Amino acid sequence: MAQVSDQEILEALKGVTDPDRNADIVSLEMVSGLAVKDGNVAFSIEVDPERGDRLEPVRKAAEDAVMGLAGVVSVSAVLTAERQPGPPSPSPPGQAAAPAAAPGPEPQEQKPLVPGVGAIIAVASGKGGVGKSTVAVNLALGMAAAGHKIGVLDADIYGPSMPRMMGITGRPASPDGKILIPMENYGVKCMSIGFLVAEDTPMIWRGPMVMGALQQMLRDVKWGELDVLVVDMPPGTGDAQLTMAQSVPLAGAVLVSTPQDIALLDARRGLNMFQRVNVPVLGIIENMSYFNCPNCGHRTEIFSHGGAKAEAEKLGVDFLGEVPLDVAIRETSDGGRPIVVSDPESDNAKRFRAIADKVWESLVANKAGAGKAPPRIVIQ
Ligand code: ADP
Repeated sequence: MAQVSDQEILEALKGVTDPDRNADIVSLEMVSGLAVKDGNVAFSIEVDPERGDRLEPVRKAAEDAVMGLAGVVSVSAVLTAERQPGPPSPSPPGQAAAPAAAPGPEPQEQKPLVPGVGAIIAVASGKGGVGKSTVAVNLALGMAAAGHKIGVLDADIYGPSMPRMMGITGRPASPDGKILIPMENYGVKCMSIGFLVAEDTPMIWRGPMVMGALQQMLRDVKWGELDVLVVDMPPGTGDAQLTMAQSVPLAGAVLVSTPQDIALLDARRGLNMFQRVNVPVLGIIENMSYFNCPNCGHRTEIFSHGGAKAEAEKLGVDFLGEVPLDVAIRETSDGGRPIVVSDPESDNAKRFRAIADKVWESLVANKAGAGKAPPRIVIQ
């Protein structure tokens, strides 16, 4: 079947009119984030927050218009509202309560995607196997150890590993059959597609399904009051990741890389991806930075350690810290007892906690730096 082109999609969308402004949504530059993969089409329609509820028919008409094109298998359009410049996000509740951090009344008409969650951050990597999930879980537990209310959302739908790493089995309860109660361990709430399907079940995801699953795990899960929700992203910087990064009101992103990936410029691709969707990159973490021999304690720099730090400087992004390749990290995270909780006094646990503190500080600094933070994207 012939691939549908961006041009054809935009042509079709020119037939959809914004009733309030009497022009089509393409000419009005309301369409953004167009992603096409194997006939699965996803895009956003940017609207003023006040008009969000009334524009549902426009969203539906846009989906129908694209669905009518040859070669289209599915269409997912979401209404997004770009917040006008003003008090920047994120708002970790602990800070938001302080009068100095609240420069004026927040416009109340915008519905945040996840009420009660102060800030959502993404943990991302250019490719799989670099320890992204290991870092995400220890980062979340590190922030919890500092007294913050934390949740983890496993969006790594291709290989959900949070149930195993958090040591959680079973299924989330849903008393009303609609809203899921997140699972919890070590004081951290957790939701993963892995709770709903067996870990070894092969899953084939279409682009819009990816986005739907993530939004459902945000909207239909009773997260309650959280300071930070850590999202473990699927590895890579392709369309699915881009769409996902765009569909969540992210306050920031943390990139995980091994030294040799840095040489391959994976981190730069990750940075570009988040910049495209106006998400600030809070910094880079170098994982598997060097090898600590468990027998003699000797340190070996297998992948020419330090690449991430140098690259972070070049890219103008904070370097958040380095974590060695250490068998204790692998055993504890794969065994459901991440090192931050199972051996909190170890050097590695301290490293992760220091990184968690830096991420938290960076979130708060972004909030305080009025004018510096990019507009927050809110899904209506
Ligand atoms: P990703 O999420 O990037 O695919 P994972 O976090 O699942 O990567 O890690 C892949 C494997 O590497 C896991 O078995 C994990 O325990 C191990 N691992 C991750 N980081 C380290 C580390 N610093 N030292 C030792 N093993 C690690």
